[in-house]
Amino acid sequence: MSARLPRTPSGTGRTRIVGATLVDGTGAPALPDAEVEVVDDRIGYVGPRRPDTGADTEADAVGNGRATPATVVDARGLHVLPGFVDLHVHAAMPDDVGPDVRAGWFPEEEAFSTARTLARTLAAGVTTARDLSGLTPGFRNAVAAGHITGPRLHLAVALLSPTGGHGDPVAPNGSLPVYAQRATTPGWCVVDTADEVVRAVRRLDRIGADVIKVCTSGGLSTPGDDPTELGVPAEHVALIVAEMRRRRSQPVTAHAQSEQGIREALRGGAASIEHGYGLTDELIEEMLDRATVLVPTLSALTSLPDPARASQEKIDRKRWWRDTGLRAVARAVEAGVTIATGTDAGVVPHGRNLAELGHLVDVGMTPLAAVRAGTLVGARTMGLQEHLGSVTTGKLADLVLTRADPLTAVHALADPREVRAVWQSGRVVKDLDRITGA
Ligand SMILES: [Zn+2]
Repeated sequence: MSARLPRTPSGTGRTRIVGATLVDGTGAPALPDAEVEVVDDRIGYVGPRRPDTGADTEADAVGNGRATPATVVDARGLHVLPGFVDLHVHAAMPDDVGPDVRAGWFPEEEAFSTARTLARTLAAGVTTARDLSGLTPGFRNAVAAGHITGPRLHLAVALLSPTGGHGDPVAPNGSLPVYAQRATTPGWCVVDTADEVVRAVRRLDRIGADVIKVCTSGGLSTPGDDPTELGVPAEHVALIVAEMRRRRSQPVTAHAQSEQGIREALRGGAASIEHGYGLTDELIEEMLDRATVLVPTLSALTSLPDPARASQEKIDRKRWWRDTGLRAVARAVEAGVTIATGTDAGVVPHGRNLAELGHLVDVGMTPLAAVRAGTLVGARTMGLQEHLGSVTTGKLADLVLTRADPLTAVHALADPREVRAVWQSGRVVKDLDRITGA
């Protein structure tokens, strides 16, 4: 079975976006003075700008058999791209309040905060996202129904890790943070045996998980946790992969930071590696052989903890991982490993998702390849390339218009104000300049 396509409310009618420079997400060279035609929720035409016939500026008499006139968007000076894909977000993690404030929240405050985060993520140009723990299907359904705006969503719901591992929120004294005590935020799943692994993934399948996230190494953010610690072993990863094949073939992605953690994930058959900072040349070869996707989450890797809240030891440890990770990812890029974009937003601020493109350029990708990583490769990793990921006739009209040139000023896209307009399924969901007349 193929991946579930998350629906969002559709646009109606015809819109011609004319005069922008097209960067279509496939890696093809930019096309100046292009035209993209949106028909309802799909892309009806893409290519060189067609001559104006005048028909689109005046209304036709009803029933004369001519095509409906289009709304014409003059996008000269802007760039038109596919809606972006962020494969690694945590939308349920607020970025603007500390754990103390959050501990006092009622579930409704959690939900409204998350809804606002989803809207900010969409406004940053991300029309499709994969939430890798913390977000419940209610949010995916609310976006689909149009109750809130946000990226179309694939969800991991929870992450699998062993007792004491990266996903285990229990503190050494046995206490739990408030979020982990709530049924409304089921972000964690502790598994130690094969039976527990099978039961956990069957429950996640029952709740509607689109992807399974498994921690094969430790991390930097949970109590007593370190990237070098072992996580779920290769045989359990293989068990999950086999189990999902009997269901909807949901992809299995591994949180893997250390060398050993990456090895366990690859041997177990994970489709993608999140982080991958301990990659060695041998493991890079193995990724190439297995066609495993790397989601290096450089936005998270390059951000250092706030010195006001973190110990010097913690800052030094993060700095070591940053330097090691950047070297490893640069080698993977050079070797030709398939790279896709994920930010780990939530761990880092939300709404600056396209900063990841600039980080990828910093480790050696061309801007064109970085855009492709952030669009078509992301859609392919989610199994949605038939519908999303490039500006291609017949695909869903998820489009962004940027002021900054992605090919010469990619770092500027970190600022969401550079994203001037966003369409999702042909519907305008952001229009800073009121260019669409919507
Ligand atoms: Zn994460």
